[in-house]
Amino acid sequence: MSAKILDGNVLAREVRAEWKVRAVRLAEKGMQPGLAVVIVGDNPASSIYVRNKAKACSDTGIYSEVHEFPESASEDEVIRRIQELNRNPAIHGILVQLPLPRHFDGDKVIASIEVEKDVDGFHLYNVGALVTGNTIFPPCTPQGVMKMLEKYNVVIEGQHAVVVGRSNIVGKPMALMLLQKGATVTICTSKTRQLAEHTSRADILVVATGKPRMITANMVKPGAVVIDVGINRMPDGKLTGDVDFEPVEKIAGYITPVPGGVGPMTITMLLCNTIEAAERAQARV
Ligand code: NDP
Repeated sequence: MSAKILDGNVLAREVRAEWKVRAVRLAEKGMQPGLAVVIVGDNPASSIYVRNKAKACSDTGIYSEVHEFPESASEDEVIRRIQELNRNPAIHGILVQLPLPRHFDGDKVIASIEVEKDVDGFHLYNVGALVTGNTIFPPCTPQGVMKMLEKYNVVIEGQHAVVVGRSNIVGKPMALMLLQKGATVTICTSKTRQLAEHTSRADILVVATGKPRMITANMVKPGAVVIDVGINRMPDGKLTGDVDFEPVEKIAGYITPVPGGVGPMTITMLLCNTIEAAERAQARV
């Protein structure tokens, strides 16, 4: 029997439609949600992401603006712009497109964003809030995964969740969110010995390594929920995940495709966080 596909495109459309109503309601009260995206350098992938975000904003009733800086820009210059955006009442969310150029201290730049406008959830304050289980703005990718699990009625409490990858933007917050919902969580990294022994015990397996098709069918428990966060561009130009989709699909209970799985949910969560930031700003006036 084949796994049920967790369709991120369908779900993203559904969630965006729900939230667009909220954005329109705010705009009617004179507070259209606003997102500012700051991008430094000319990383082609980043430029595509930024364009996609701008389009998703306009489709959802969010005003957006892009602040572009050349690779040679100084950290101070970028931080000054962020501080202006912090003071701008038309902007409710600020996102700094990562990666930043090597000569930037990313943590310092992110720390200059007002916590109330940190819709990516990367500010240290938001990270701390996540650790204590009181998220302010949850990071978008793991939050998108949680939303998928919720929408497809996947039980988390009491389940064994294995997260492969420990990055600050995906693996670690993902593990914390699953823990918060009552899962027993194992985190695996490139240093983990006998990876398959861990992954094959997972009721819920989340993979975020950036290693194409590294999770093969023999590493997956029959019936498991398999969430593939990876997005890898192959030499033929096609996108593939970190999971070997076709064979794993045959034994998993649920699986996310790549593309069309977690990716659309990530942008959707950014939109939701931005609208929520505007709602909070509205409540303060
Ligand atoms: P990072 O490179 O920051 O982290 C990768 C993690 O995977 C590291 O913790 C690394 O371990 C671990 N890892 C690498 N190889 C192995 C291995 N063989 N076995 C076990 N663990 C391993 O990546 P990100 O978390 O930023 O992204 C991961 C993937 O997700 C990428 O493909 C990225 O493009 C994609 N992504 C997708 C998003 C979406 O919206 N769908 C959003 C963000 C990312 P160690 O720490 O020991 O080095």
